[in-house]
Amino acid sequence: MSLHYIFEVPSADEIKDLFPMSDELIRIKEERDAEIAKVFTGESNKFLAIIGPCSADNEEAVVDYTTRLAKVSEKIKDKIILIPRIYTNKPRTNGSGYKGMLHQPNPEEKPNFIEGLKAIRKMHIDSIKESGLTAADEMLYSDNWNYMSDILSYVAIGARSVENQSHRLIASGIDVPVGMKNPTSGDYTVMMNSCIAGQSKHTFMTAGWEVKSDGNPLTHCILRGSLNKYGVSAPNYHYEDLIRLYETYQEFPTLKNPAVIVDANHNNSGKQWDQQPRIVKEILHSMRHSDDVAGLVKGVMIESYIEDGNQPVGGGCYGKSITDPCLGWEKSERLLLEMAELL
Ligand code: PEP
Ligand code: MN
Repeated sequence: MSLHYIFEVPSADEIKDLFPMSDELIRIKEERDAEIAKVFTGESNKFLAIIGPCSADNEEAVVDYTTRLAKVSEKIKDKIILIPRIYTNKPRTNGSGYKGMLHQPNPEEKPNFIEGLKAIRKMHIDSIKESGLTAADEMLYSDNWNYMSDILSYVAIGARSVENQSHRLIASGIDVPVGMKNPTSGDYTVMMNSCIAGQSKHTFMTAGWEVKSDGNPLTHCILRGSLNKYGVSAPNYHYEDLIRLYETYQEFPTLKNPAVIVDANHNNSGKQWDQQPRIVKEILHSMRHSDDVAGLVKGVMIESYIEDGNQPVGGGCYGKSITDPCLGWEKSERLLLEMAELL
């Protein structure tokens, strides 16, 4: 036997009972979900900024960060809805490295999933309490959705998971927007097929149950750039890429609420985190140039934290990413204020 059973993990209901959403937080989430949904359906012209660290590695720094976001949100809320990125599960290119707070509630200690499940619910809930902002997270493991289903206002399916059937089927039963990233190869068709699957009804098995889903009409695309066959980053945030996505949507007329969020980091910046402000401003410029692009682009995703750049695990710098490099707080705040001026 090469698979060793360590602990039986508590059920989603048990973990939810330990860290429940209060009535007040449920009300905040309902209001935010309705406001965010209207952006995707076209009833609201507000713009989304899904912004925060690559990985949420430390509750204190994350809640400090989201509290700062809340203050900026007050200034720009007529134009921009801020959705903190609180990513607790990290996909890794070759499987090794820090995989997020779910695996390791303390990045310097060994994995502990029971403590990890508690830590991620606690962090998300504390962040909503302090900031009033419900967050986005990545669904790295489709089996884990039930542990987070009442907390998140936005779910991303990563570039390495977007072709996976279980992620697509769970997405079809989620009641908040789900963003399907383009795969690392950059193929738009994989992303579009994932949107079709997410928007359709399915019967499938999850968490020990046969279930059926209604389809999620808020399933949409995220452009995050790609890697070419030489391993070089190929961006897809330029005007031509956005028009190409608009045209691709015309080939899929059954898809509801055509929409894209553009990720300014990853292979769009080539992980040159300091290019994110320029990239975001170029996207806003492309929106001014074409009504088709303006109608399609619903927001941007920005990797941002308290300090610029990144550090190795155990680097000891408070609020500095231990995964992808991020834009620091001062530059992030300036960017958000500039975006509100430009919109
Ligand atoms: C991320 O959002 O940090 C991430 C790993 O994204 P992607 O799936 O696009 O690589
Ligand atoms: Mn990242």
